[in-house]
Amino acid sequence: MTREVPCPSCGQLVICTVPDDNNYTEKEYQQHALSICTCPMGRKVRATEAQIAEAQDNINMLCGEGAEGNSMTPIESEDVHTILKMAVKLVSKGTIFDLTVRVSGGGTVKISAGTKGQIKVKRTVGFSEQLEANQKL
Ligand SMILES: [Zn+2]
Repeated sequence: MTREVPCPSCGQLVICTVPDDNNYTEKEYQQHALSICTCPMGRKVRATEAQIAEAQDNINMLCGEGAEGNSMTPIESEDVHTILKMAVKLVSKGTIFDLTVRVSGGGTVKISAGTKGQIKVKRTVGFSEQLEANQKL
């Protein structure tokens, strides 16, 4: 189904396409409208989502399936990945500046904010490898 919802930032009506059986609250409709709106705040929301996705891919490159390509052993615990991915979101929001996790048998992983708004993922296992997701704006 589609519904016109005013963007909470700019107020223009945005056509939202949502599942027929959704239980969206009014607030969730507004968030959806903002996430697809063409206004500057809508673009910022999408840019932030893209940066978070890139930083989470970087976690995968250093700690997940891509780790072996960087001569590192993948971290098997899904829970550790959950913590690291949550840390990326908190760094993106500015709720935390960094989080360092010492993984049993897996070295150290640090998620941190850069001075230019990057989100850095650094893994140290005897040697270090760091990947950065830059702000898209
Ligand atoms: Zn808008």
